[in-house]
Amino acid sequence: KKEQKALFVIFGGTGDLAQRKLYPALFNLYKRGYLKKHFAVIGTARRPWSNGYYRDVVRSSIDGMVNFQTQIDEFASHFYYQSHNVNDVDHYETLRVLADKLDQDYGLEGNRLYYLAMSPSFFGTICEHLKSQGLTKTAGYNRVIIEKPFGHDYASAKELNDEISKYFPEEATFRIDHYLGKEMIQNIMALRFGNSILSAIWNNKMISNIQVTLSESLGVEERGGYYDTAGALRDMVQNHILQIVALLVMDRPDSYCAKDVRKRKVETFEALKIYSPEEVAQNFVRGQYGEGKDMVAYRDESMIAPDSMTETFVAGKLEVDNCDMAGVPIYIRTGKRLATKATRIDIVFKQDDDSLFGGQGLADNTVTINVEPDTGIDFTLNTKKIGQEFATRQTNIGYRLTEEQVAKVPEAYERLILNALQGNSVNFTHWDELEYSWKFVDAIRNAWDQEDLPVDYFPNYACGTMGPQASDELLAKAGHHWIF
Ligand code: NAD
Repeated sequence: KKEQKALFVIFGGTGDLAQRKLYPALFNLYKRGYLKKHFAVIGTARRPWSNGYYRDVVRSSIDGMVNFQTQIDEFASHFYYQSHNVNDVDHYETLRVLADKLDQDYGLEGNRLYYLAMSPSFFGTICEHLKSQGLTKTAGYNRVIIEKPFGHDYASAKELNDEISKYFPEEATFRIDHYLGKEMIQNIMALRFGNSILSAIWNNKMISNIQVTLSESLGVEERGGYYDTAGALRDMVQNHILQIVALLVMDRPDSYCAKDVRKRKVETFEALKIYSPEEVAQNFVRGQYGEGKDMVAYRDESMIAPDSMTETFVAGKLEVDNCDMAGVPIYIRTGKRLATKATRIDIVFKQDDDSLFGGQGLADNTVTINVEPDTGIDFTLNTKKIGQEFATRQTNIGYRLTEEQVAKVPEAYERLILNALQGNSVNFTHWDELEYSWKFVDAIRNAWDQEDLPVDYFPNYACGTMGPQASDELLAKAGHHWIF
């Protein structure tokens, strides 16, 4: 394990993301020996906190992960707080002085990672001032990590990107999609390209359809203000789902490096069919949850308009016209307040000829990648039913990570922060991928906006179900059904 020497500057250091994800991730990197003596963290936000208070906040965010007292004391001593208004140029001067001092004190070799854990409306300003006030003028690297949402449509994403790229080149810009940091999502490439028994059949001759489900059991919680302006399509499909689809259908990259993987992903996005409004109506379904047992309807949640037309569910059929996968329907589905929380991918293979067995019908052969909460892979096969008759039955073959293995799996943020420290962007979203994914999503959004549904169209599914009936019908009209 190579020690990573760097200064982290976290904008939004008092926020929810920093406390729930970033400090635990940094602590794990520390426990595993990637961060040792040569690192420091500057947390910045508007509140006037002292270093002491900040360190207490950091300590409590990693409560329960600590092995012994001196470990946490030592770790917390690397954290510094700087009260900072991102719009105030003078504050960057104070920040620079502190950054330079910590660079000296900790021997950080001028390496800096700026983590923008605050509203995207500030990203441009922050990047501009980091540059203009000389924070990035160091002997080492200067990289920026950016959180979602990256724009709310193509135009705003491009504007944001143009702004950031004036100050940080693409190779120094790390756009987080935390699904790309998940163990089982990273397993897709291993499965597809490490097994001849799968790579040989991963094509439109053998695959009937692909299904990607990201279902949540929670409602909108306290994110109402943001969510009501976004909806499931922007919040989940544009980023996480399209990234997963790209990994599932892209051609084999020449190597496992960012440049080659990106090339294949971009080719996939280029081949993703952008729908006309008529095609959107045929291929996409939206829903919004109504009330359920002890659960309120979306429109009754806090910060949600009582006549909101925002979708909390979306299902769709995608087509990617690259040679190997041309014609294979890719069904996607995500929503809030669904029956269960699960992320899974089902690959459904074409059925074999059943005439040998008297045309009794065969079960679907499927490969399922369970991403969470289950982590593992399942195959379904047809085998002989035990007994005198010659009939078949469905058999499952499965592999699950053990509890012990799961405990060792690095959390997505931990993995991605380490990748950013190493300058490895293979599991980050590049601008050219974003560009296509927004254009795809915009076409759907625009078709929906023109549709002018009556207010009572929603709610159209009850809490605790798997979404509106139209989602099942979307598959049924092609002779398919949701495996999950
Ligand atoms: P938050 O509201 O909890 O924190 C925002 C932070 O920004 C606070 O530290 C606040 O002090 C600081 N801030 C606001 N205005 C400022 C200003 N003018 N100058 C200096 N500091 C200022 O938000 P969060 O939930 O931590 O989310 C941060 C970003 O990460 C958002 O873009 C969000 O969409 C994204 N994100 C969050 C999560 C999550 O789990 N919380 C997940 C994915 C993406």
